[in-house]
Amino acid sequence: MNCVGCRKPINDRYLLKAIDEFWHEDCLKCSCCECRLGEVGSSLFVKGDLLLCRRDYLRFVCCTIISLVLL
Ligand SMILES: [Zn+2]
Ligand SMILES: [Zn+2]
Repeated sequence: MNCVGCRKPINDRYLLKAIDEFWHEDCLKCSCCECRLGEVGSSLFVKGDLLLCRRDYLRFVCCTIISLVLL
């Protein structure tokens, strides 16, 4: 199973599933502020190909809300 962010295998104890794909905790970051989305809450926000934390999302409109599943 490879991380969508860096394309490397995920061997970590924790991995994240978002947008039906898998991510390292370190790779799933907000496109704006680079915070780790797995740490800031249970949802992330998508606008185009940007992934945003809630705080940055609030600055945008028309985002699609998707759920973030911590496995
Ligand atoms: Zn990765
Ligand atoms: Zn952010």
